Amino acid sequence: MLRRLNPVIAVSLVLAGAILAIAVWLLAQMRDDALRRAQDAANNVTLLAQRDVTRNLELYDLSLRAVIDGLNQPGVMQLPPVLRQMLLFDGSASGRDLGSIFVLDATGNVILESRSANARHIYLGDRDYFTVHRQSADRGLFVSGPFVPTQTGRDVSIALSRRLSNPDGSFAGVVVGMLRVSYFERLFAGMNLGASGSMALLLTDGTLIMRRPFDPKLIGMNLKGTANYTRFLDGDSGEFYGKAAIDGVSRWYTFRHIDGFPMIVDVALSTRDIYSGWRHRAWIIGSLISALDAAIIALAILFAGQLRRRIAVEAELRELARTDGLTGLNNRRSFEATAEVEWQRARRFADGSRPLSLLLIDVDSFKGFNDLYGHSAGDEALIAVARCIDGNVRRPTDTAARYGGEEFAVLLPDTDLSGAMQMAEQIRAAVQALQVRHIASGHHVLTISVGVACSGNHGVTAWRAFVNAADAALYEAKDAGRNRCLSFPVREKALDPAAMVKPPA
Ligand code: GH3
Ligand code: MG
Ligand code: MG
Repeated sequence: MLRRLNPVIAVSLVLAGAILAIAVWLLAQMRDDALRRAQDAANNVTLLAQRDVTRNLELYDLSLRAVIDGLNQPGVMQLPPVLRQMLLFDGSASGRDLGSIFVLDATGNVILESRSANARHIYLGDRDYFTVHRQSADRGLFVSGPFVPTQTGRDVSIALSRRLSNPDGSFAGVVVGMLRVSYFERLFAGMNLGASGSMALLLTDGTLIMRRPFDPKLIGMNLKGTANYTRFLDGDSGEFYGKAAIDGVSRWYTFRHIDGFPMIVDVALSTRDIYSGWRHRAWIIGSLISALDAAIIALAILFAGQLRRRIAVEAELRELARTDGLTGLNNRRSFEATAEVEWQRARRFADGSRPLSLLLIDVDSFKGFNDLYGHSAGDEALIAVARCIDGNVRRPTDTAARYGGEEFAVLLPDTDLSGAMQMAEQIRAAVQALQVRHIASGHHVLTISVGVACSGNHGVTAWRAFVNAADAALYEAKDAGRNRCLSFPVREKALDPAAMVKPPA
């Protein structure tokens, strides 16, 4: 199958394959680029979010520390409430999402409040941040999970808290500040994450503080045990492909732990968004390349067909130019061309070791045959004679030709005179054996006469002279009564009975 494949089509297939390979390679590069761009974008957003969150939490923590420092000043609690409030809370960070800062005593009751000189009577001793600090002296900053403050009953918040210690190190209470999670929601909303990107802030214990797309039901949910959360704990930052436990979307994740706070921020761009532009372009490029390849192959098939037809026509023309239309034998021109080559070849062997023989054949009394039986019967007879010649000329190096009219020639390379005479006699006998009626002939059937010349047997040095020698022999054969084979030189041969092949009676 492959060996029979037309070279033009084979080349077109290789070309089409090469174009396809280049396109595939380019698309693969473009796909990589799309992922790299998405990775960069996700990294940048993560970094931005991490910095913003860190900065705001640090500011808020500084406010808590300032309150603690203030409370450690001797006599602060003895100051008039308005003055005390100014001293402790005036430097506190304030902002849209920052709630009140409370100071709790060791029993969990609020004793000071940032928003009011006279603290309300609120008990917060049952809160996780209170318990944590009471139990552990070296907890530092504690960040709670999201909750709805009982004082306001709205605005889900997280609490940032630090422990108050007496000079002897014993538990003196807690300073706690509230931060509304709407801060994170707004922060996340400002980032460009594509149509199905997601972003989340969680505590290192897995508690979800905020997620985009925002769903209030998810706030406070614990992601411990999910595959993605587990990978968030692998290092300070990282990236990976993952499927969200919450919505099942495949995304490229980038995460960072927030310096100094037990929090993790992650940005995840959906693979669908990452590759959507690429996919669109891949469709266009893929279609164009496929069309181009199809066109190349189709053109090659068309061209190969044309070429095949042309080659066939040329071969046919060559064959026509070479052969005689009536008998199918070589025509005179192609015979002369072959003879030229063979003659030169025979002459190269001056010792006559490669003798070249020539038979000139002429149909006897053919003019009469035509007159008697008609021209088309004459043509049929010529075809029959040609078949007799062709049937006896078997060696591939032998060449039989219609020399003109009712004359034929046979060239026999590497054949000596006796071999040539034998061949001549066979042909003559075959024609006679056809028993084609010819009442005007002395032999009553169609016969031929053959003149034979052999290059090894006389001194001629030119092809023309060689033909003339065969022609002379033919003339002699005619003269001697036709239906016979004679060789040149005739006179000497005629004296030698062995050289003359007697025709059958
Ligand atoms: P000879 O025995 O001496 O050869 O007698 P002849 O009649 O054959 O003499 P000549 O060679 O002069 O005549 C050749 C004739 O062959 C002339 C022509 O009528 C006939 N002839 C030549 N070519 C064709 C051909 O293609 N078809 C037919 N039917 N006859 C042809
Ligand atoms: Mg003749
Ligand atoms: Mg003749």
